[in-house]
Amino acid sequence: MSSLFKVAPFLAANSVDAFLISNLHNVRYLTGFTGSNALLLAMPDEMVFFSDPRYRLQADEQVSVKKVIATGNLFSAASAFAGKKRVKRMAVEQTTMTLAEAELLRGKFEIRAAAGVIEGLRMVKSPEEIAKIRKSVALNSEAYEQALKKARPGMREYELAAEIDYRMRRLGAEAPAFETIVASGIRSALPHAKPGPARLEKEQLLLIDMGSMLNGYASDMTRMAHFGKPPKKVRDAHDRVLEAQLAAVAAVRPGRTGAQVDKAARDVLKAAGFGEAFVHSTGHGLGLEIHEDPRIGKAGKVKLAAGMAITIEPGIYLEGWGGIRIEDTVIVTETGCEVLTRTPKELRVI
Ligand code: ZN
Ligand code: ZN
Repeated sequence: MSSLFKVAPFLAANSVDAFLISNLHNVRYLTGFTGSNALLLAMPDEMVFFSDPRYRLQADEQVSVKKVIATGNLFSAASAFAGKKRVKRMAVEQTTMTLAEAELLRGKFEIRAAAGVIEGLRMVKSPEEIAKIRKSVALNSEAYEQALKKARPGMREYELAAEIDYRMRRLGAEAPAFETIVASGIRSALPHAKPGPARLEKEQLLLIDMGSMLNGYASDMTRMAHFGKPPKKVRDAHDRVLEAQLAAVAAVRPGRTGAQVDKAARDVLKAAGFGEAFVHSTGHGLGLEIHEDPRIGKAGKVKLAAGMAITIEPGIYLEGWGGIRIEDTVIVTETGCEVLTRTPKELRVI
């Protein structure tokens, strides 16, 4: 079925004759096309998909709207097509096109910047999309369990990261949703530690932040483990982060803003003396991309609505000591939220 009904209200409300969609995630959202070169021209009465000959067969399988297979630049092809359709005002996604591509449209059409419009539609997931995210989350948790069994002190961070990625792929994931984060000891104080040759240390924290891509949809989870019995300071800090995470989860419901959810986590950590150590936002939307709207942070103005998929991931980072983050993928429901991530959140002693 054509997704034109999703775009038509925007065309009407903004008096544009066409919307040229160049963000490939948005093209996928509206057509199902998973290839790497495409444009979608949405007009009030039809949508036209443009790609190149490499994708002729794939487009036939995946895309149900009218297709134009062009040998040259797709912007040239879309521009020529729109010209024939007497398009005058054209909305474009200015953040996913080059200046050279813009030059192909300039002078021919009155251009309106419309980046973010489709991303706005993508925030609320359909039941089919939620089912895909649920499967992605389950696969991710299974890969975590399998990989954690291999974690040993002395292992290099990249070895465990590779094990995690391998487990994901073995379970059917297309790819990691982002570069898997494995950090132990004081390196866990780097919120986005890149797995390197550092060795996992005994009697230390182990932070794993991982996500899988399955059927095009992302999952995202962070869990903490400890090699050997954790000292009291580590247990206490983990308890506070868990308390903050649960407070933020409890704050998720339709009508609340991302800022309100963020505050719920931040207040707990501030009261525990970790206000300064919580250096990032509480979470983010996810779906076809690992980071999507709405943002769950201090500036998060978007009101949550049933069907949104977001992460809740407060953390604290103390230089020279280490970091603790706990992250779940959750779906906003009519009455609150459903935590999709089933992996236990307790500090795992291994
Ligand atoms: Zn995340
Ligand atoms: Zn994450």
